[in-house]
This record gives sequence, C-alpha cells and structure tokens, in this order.
Amino acid sequence: MTNERQQSGDSPRFRITEIRVKLTDDPRNKLKAYCSVTIDHAFVVRDLKIIDGNKGPFVAMPSRKLADHCPRCHHKNHLRAAYCNQCGTGLDPDRAPRDARGRSQLHADLAHPINSATRIEMHKAIVQAYAQEFEAAQRDGDQYKPKSFDDLDALSDMVDDDYIEELERRQEERDRRRRTPDGRSDGLASGAAE
Ligand SMILES: [Zn+2]
Repeated sequence: MTNERQQSGDSPRFRITEIRVKLTDDPRNKLKAYCSVTIDHAFVVRDLKIIDGNKGPFVAMPSRKLADHCPRCHHKNHLRAAYCNQCGTGLDPDRAPRDARGRSQLHADLAHPINSATRIEMHKAIVQAYAQEFEAAQRDGDQYKPKSFDDLDALSDMVDDDYIEELERRQEERDRRRRTPDGRSDGLASGAAE
C-alpha cells in the first residue's frame, strides 16, 4: 500500500512519506506484518516488524541477534548457544550481557529513533498503516492482493519468543521512564537501551 502522509506542522525535522505493510499469512503468528518506511522521499528503512504484544500491536525496529566469539576457535555463535557451532566447545548459554535489572540482552536494533517524540510519531503512523492494511484484507477477502516485497518475501515469518519478550520488556521500560521526570532523555544513551 502506498500511504502518502501529510506533513504535520509540529515535526518539521522528520517526515514519513510512505509506509508499506506486508501482512504475514498465519493469524496465530505473533509477527503480524513487515513494513518499510520512507523518510522524506529519500531514505528507506525496511524490515520493521509489527508484533502483537500483550498490550496491542507494537513496532519493532530492524534488528540482529547478538553474537560472540568462541574462546577456542573464534567462530561466531549466538549468545544462547551452549556449544560452539564450529568446534563444539561447551559455552555458557547464560553469558549474554545483562541490563541494570539483570535481564539478558540478545538483540540489537540496527536503525531506530533516538528520541521519544520520533518514536511515538513513527509508532502511530505505522500502527495506523497496519490497521488499514488489515482492514483492507478483511474487507476484500479473496480479492485482497497482498503486497509483494520481493526479496523480503524470502525472510522467515518466525520471530523467536526471546525476542518478543525482550521487546515487550523494553516497551515497559520506556513507559516506566516516561512517567518519571527524567523520562525525556529516554533512548539517547545507546541503541541497546533504546
Ligand atoms: Zn569454537
């Protein structure tokens, strides 16, 4: 769907000019859709995800699993691996870095807003575009023509439970910070904390 958006007067530095949404096929999937956003007709970010969270749909930024190197052969393994994929050395499956509250961080965002205003703006626009696409699919039934994202169609539709849990935790963390007086600095520290 091409979703041209009006420039809103209060966000002159950031304008999403197009949002494309590709719904996933399986309604039981927590991953509801992929989307891409275009910024100022000039820059596209793909592989954002819309995830059905406990408190409704939310937007996940493009991300990658974190990995580290095997101490013996230097091969890269994901942080939950109990054995090196290359040489079989036993690894501590609980070695992921932990946040201030002791919970492990297994993924990092590759592109993301660095302040709350931008994140809220993006979230609203994307969730709205998703809702429109979802309604179109319901309304048109067999006539509905899903978008083709070509190479994105080849991506896996599965997101692992660890990731969803991590995202929901971050979301709750943000909500919590927003309610505190220093909540305005939210997200500026680092991508991982964002
Ligand atoms: Zn190894």
